[in-house]
Amino acid sequence: MTLVVQKFGGTSVGDADRIRAVADHVARTRRNGDDVVVVVSAMGKTTDDLLRLANDVSSVQPPRELDMLLTSGERVSMSLLVMALADLGIDAVSFTGSQAGIITDTTHTRATIIEVRAERLREALKAGRVPVVAGFQGVSTDRDVTTLGRGGSDTTAVAMAAALGADACEIYTDVSGVYSADPRIVPGARRLMRVSFEEMLDIAASGGRVLSLRSVEFARNHHVPLHVRSSFTWEPGTWVVEEDVSMEQPVVTAITHDTSEAKVTVTGVPDRPGIAAPIFRALADRKVNVDTIVQNTSLHGTTDISFTVPKVDLATSVQTVGSLAPELGAGEVLTDDTIAKVSLVGAGMRSHPGVSATMFETLADAGINIEMISTSSIRISCVVRADRVEEAVRILHAAFELSD
Ligand code: ADP
Ligand code: ASP
Ligand code: MG
Repeated sequence: MTLVVQKFGGTSVGDADRIRAVADHVARTRRNGDDVVVVVSAMGKTTDDLLRLANDVSSVQPPRELDMLLTSGERVSMSLLVMALADLGIDAVSFTGSQAGIITDTTHTRATIIEVRAERLREALKAGRVPVVAGFQGVSTDRDVTTLGRGGSDTTAVAMAAALGADACEIYTDVSGVYSADPRIVPGARRLMRVSFEEMLDIAASGGRVLSLRSVEFARNHHVPLHVRSSFTWEPGTWVVEEDVSMEQPVVTAITHDTSEAKVTVTGVPDRPGIAAPIFRALADRKVNVDTIVQNTSLHGTTDISFTVPKVDLATSVQTVGSLAPELGAGEVLTDDTIAKVSLVGAGMRSHPGVSATMFETLADAGINIEMISTSSIRISCVVRADRVEEAVRILHAAFELSD
């Protein structure tokens, strides 16, 4: 017998009709003879609404309370889905992350799963019931409710699939798979039939939010077959696979963009050994994920260091670096939250020189200034003005002829 984990994102359970449509699909899967574990996100924009509410109520948001608040969103959708399934004669039962045995570390708002104790789910499955699990949440080793970071329901689904040894993890969303660019920005974007974990990791890391980065890492580490597909058309989507599929694809597989980061610049940094280390150690200790880093050539013994961080960590970053600056003999700490990053991802790049030249020429022809550049063996990223980034995605998609 096949066991499949089916995860439904916010839009897929956005209203009563959508919840009934999802219930219908789960019921059909069950009646086909497959075992199903369902993972749901909060309905529609619930998580954003709850965050807004928290901001309206207070500027002080203890992370533990934020997690208490945000986890309520997924509780609503899990219980409603079980009710819709009951209406169809399907015996289902809901579980919060804690009840589902998802044990995390104690880092509120971005906890890491350290163990899944799935006994209750196994028992439910054995009894012929459909477990419906609230995504995005767990319980910490300190017994507090935690969340797994934005988009974390994908990670819940993959963790469940790994723990239960599922045959597949299906991620149902509002697009029909992983595309050569965000189809909302490039209407002619091409759906990928298959994409390798290696490329999917870079797509997710550089802003292609169709799968959360953690979920892709988890799936690769635990060999979970991932299938990204639409809960609107139900057609087959994109499989994320272990093998290199670059032979089937152009040199560049996808263009991604990310508007969630801001730039921090530390000016007048003395150009001597032992300066960068304390800055980035202090940021790492505060769990700030630093991305692109640029250090300029030194003039008169001092230099500027610029780096990007998630906007949500900007205040923490400025405070952390600002408090170090005097003892390091550095100058001001400047910030810029009107930047965005556009990236090319493709395993084929390794063996094709000239990809970055074409990228830079394409941006130059459109008068888009490149402010920072970073590369890995299969990715090239440029930081540009945020108000030009969508145009950058479109022209690069055209330049590399990625449409069907
Ligand atoms: P869900 O709520 O189902 O988790 P998300 O909003 O997190 O959905 O992710 C789906 C969205 O990801 C799509 O609506 C699409 O706009 C966006 N997206 C960004 N890049 C890509 C890409 N390369 N392929 C497909 N979708 C993408
Ligand atoms: N509801 C959470 C969010 O909006 C988790 C998820 O949807 O994956 O980020
Ligand atoms: Mg998502």
